[in-house]
Amino acid sequence: MDLLKVGKFISEKRKEKKLTQLELAQKLCISEKTVSKWECGKGFPDTSLILPLCEVLGLNANELLSGKTIKDDKEYKETAENNLVELKNTNQRLTKNLLNLEYFIIAEIVLILLTACCVISYVSLPLVWKIVIMGFAVLNTIIGYIFAIQIETKAGFYKCEHCQHKYIPSYKSSSFSMHMGRTKYLKCPKCNKRSWQKKVID
Ligand SMILES: [Zn+2]
Repeated sequence: MDLLKVGKFISEKRKEKKLTQLELAQKLCISEKTVSKWECGKGFPDTSLILPLCEVLGLNANELLSGKTIKDDKEYKETAENNLVELKNTNQRLTKNLLNLEYFIIAEIVLILLTACCVISYVSLPLVWKIVIMGFAVLNTIIGYIFAIQIETKAGFYKCEHCQHKYIPSYKSSSFSMHMGRTKYLKCPKCNKRSWQKKVID
């Protein structure tokens, strides 16, 4: 899917409807920044937003996903199938990018913490500097952790081993569950059984 083309098309249609980015965002109960991201081709509407967005812009889903106006039935059918496949691929790609970003954040946290510990242990510095360095490392850890948890609840799903139910865990259960890499020990909201659950992308 050509995100740039879709973004330009959304922007065009929004202007035709004489809406600002903020007005469009308000109609969809999302942030102005999200609309701006779509229009720059840096993101794509969440599946749950595709139909409401089409309604506001006076398009059908097929046109939105193709990034162009579709005139006849034949063209409509041809593009519909391609769009479904591409939508899935695009969502997977965006999810993978987010999950890679999460790895990067975790690596950065560990690196800063280790560096701070080494400096404090082996370099002779006034106490106040040591406190500043440790404070920075702790702050960096907290901020990174908040970002990582947000990604955790946005990208991909967890799948229950017992009933195969796919779901996104809450912030709370995501933060406090035991985990090994991307596998977490979670309670399934459907069958209430606990199991080690793998992250799945779709
Ligand atoms: Zn279950």
